[in-house]
Amino acid sequence: MSHLLNGFAQPALQETVVPFGSLDAPAQELLIAAFAVRQRAYAPYSNFKVGAAFRATSTNIIFPGCNVENAAFSPTSCAERSALTRAVSDGYREFSSGAVVAYEPDVFTSPCGVCRQFIREFAGHTDMPLYIAQGLDERSADQPFTSDDPVFCTSIFNLLPNSFKTYCK
Ligand SMILES: [Zn+2]
Repeated sequence: MSHLLNGFAQPALQETVVPFGSLDAPAQELLIAAFAVRQRAYAPYSNFKVGAAFRATSTNIIFPGCNVENAAFSPTSCAERSALTRAVSDGYREFSSGAVVAYEPDVFTSPCGVCRQFIREFAGHTDMPLYIAQGLDERSADQPFTSDDPVFCTSIFNLLPNSFKTYCK
């Protein structure tokens, strides 16, 4: 009966924390885009700004998005969903990687449960690497990270194992 577990997507990538400078250029570019869009976050209620960016598989185009809060709270959109909604609206549905930048002292900011499911929808059958870093407000968009800044390298199947997906097209 355990064969029914075989359809579950399993993590294909090991979670690690590495210095920003050791990442390849596309991953660095993604984090820099997430840092930049975080500055446009609309977060008057929480003051917790988040930026996200996803790279379309077919074209390598980066789609950034920030969190957009609302006075009624529940209509709030997280940065990850803002970015993916923007990309899908432009005609892109497959992504090779993603990045999230926010700032809390002493801890990385990992996507919320709703966003994990939202990202998973567009991951297909292949695990999608996700890069998570802290965005410091005192840094400029020209040089948002130093080579020593830590980056949490994870993936959507690590963040949402045994996830729900109907595989309908
Ligand atoms: Zn979220």
